[in-house]
Amino acid sequence: AIHCRSHWTSGSEGSDSSGADLLYRVVLLGDHGVGKSSLANIFAGIQDANECIEEDTYERTLTVDGEEATLVVMDTWETEKQEQDEKWVQDYCMQVGNAYVIVYSITDRSSFESASELRIQLRRIRQADNIPIILVGNKSDLVRCREVAIEEGRACAVVFDCKFIETSASLHHNVQELFEGIVRQIRLRRDSKET
Ligand code: GDP
Ligand code: MG
Repeated sequence: AIHCRSHWTSGSEGSDSSGADLLYRVVLLGDHGVGKSSLANIFAGIQDANECIEEDTYERTLTVDGEEATLVVMDTWETEKQEQDEKWVQDYCMQVGNAYVIVYSITDRSSFESASELRIQLRRIRQADNIPIILVGNKSDLVRCREVAIEEGRACAVVFDCKFIETSASLHHNVQELFEGIVRQIRLRRDSKET
């Protein structure tokens, strides 16, 4: 069995069990600086973005469409650790997600290209699994610095068969919608399996 850092939530092995306390791991992927930690902090309800908590997993229970779901958001993609360790963490991230959020910055075209690469990598590693993936164009508030048009993001999501949303962590715009959307995507797959 894989042993992870001590504060990674226990009880996370039961993602396919039924019951009210379903727990889903949501992994954030994307280049450095695109806003992953900012989005994770908003999810965790940490209001002051300037005080980014150096935590790397956040657990919260949301009520979506009248039903509770607990998400464990993993902001572990980037670590300050040695390269060897980072590779291990990245492989682990690719394996354990019940859903993935691939983030790029609309102000940084190279982060958009990285997002495509991550999508391809994920498809290769998790070929057999029909996991929800959301492509996120963050920093939508920085209109003057935009390098990636919203249509490009949308088109990319169509090609890669995933959902798409633009967010602004700074303005808290569409962040709630993003995490609710993930819950809905997970449920769609769960429900189609049951019938
Ligand atoms: P990470 O490396 O992907 O975790 O990115 P961070 O969350 O650390 O964000 C990198 C920088 O971008 C920080 O200075 C954030 O304040 C800033 N940032 C993150 N999201 C937004 C956003 O939506 N709009 C703007 N204007 N800046 C943002
Ligand atoms: Mg970060």
